[in-house]
Amino acid sequence: MTPSEVDRLAGLVSRADRIVVFTGAGVSTESGIPDFRSPGGVWDRFDPSEFTFQNFMGSEAGRRRYWELGRTTFPVIRRAEPNPGHHALVTLWRLGKLDCVITQNIDNLHQRAGLPADRVIELHGNATRARCLACETAYERERIQEWLDAGVEVPMCDPPCGGIIKPRTIMFGEAMPRVELEESERRARACDLFVVVGSSLVVYPAAYMPLHAKDAGATLVIVNLTETPHDNQADLLVRGSAAGVLASVVDRLQPRPVAR
Ligand code: NAD
Repeated sequence: MTPSEVDRLAGLVSRADRIVVFTGAGVSTESGIPDFRSPGGVWDRFDPSEFTFQNFMGSEAGRRRYWELGRTTFPVIRRAEPNPGHHALVTLWRLGKLDCVITQNIDNLHQRAGLPADRVIELHGNATRARCLACETAYERERIQEWLDAGVEVPMCDPPCGGIIKPRTIMFGEAMPRVELEESERRARACDLFVVVGSSLVVYPAAYMPLHAKDAGATLVIVNLTETPHDNQADLLVRGSAAGVLASVVDRLQPRPVAR
């Protein structure tokens, strides 16, 4: 990140009226949650093809394997705290600049930082909640974790239901949530500035959102540590850490105390 890139982004933000920020796993790595595709990320340690919706629904063995992984990954999400990047987005909202955050993240950190739930569109669900697929009873993921820690291998709904409990995340191979997808596309097409933060932009249909925004006439900014396939569409590219860039931008927007 160079000072001039941050200045340019701060200028775009201060001139914009309706900003949509699109976040990926990169906005939460500085909170200690590894992303999927960076070296050392989750996919270096697990085979994604094993953790599909079809495998989860298809057999008890598939669900057992899923929860075995979930038992180890949930504590990472549970102990993570929002970082200056999440907090900067809350400031942007308080300044009346932010229409919404569209996130691929499942970690609940935007809400925990203070963004109202109705300002966060979760395209891939939320890992802090779970639900019975038969009777739709809601479960806190925290409670499921207690069961797993106590030796339960495949959590099932309380009697008499006994239905399959599934976390409220969208698994590979599972249909996207229709309402969230439509709402994201609508907001992307209605904004004047669309800022991607910390996403490899390779997971579809989420990765169409910047293209919808651009197609409808918005200015597109991509803040990411590494290249993305949509870099050639961006009006401004900022190579830098999500937390550092967002905090510096917001800092430039805040009125400074006048020395007397
Ligand atoms: P990804 O892992 O494919 O890509 C993350 C991108 O962020 C990479 O391009 C990387 O270079 C960049 N990055 C990493 N740290 C950064 C930082 N500090 N500042 C700026 N950029 C940084 O993630 P994705 O595009 O979000 O797609 C992966 C899928 O994984 C998503 O659908 C999401 O559901 C899921 N996921 C979520 C979490 C989470 O909730 N925190 C974590 C891992 C994966």
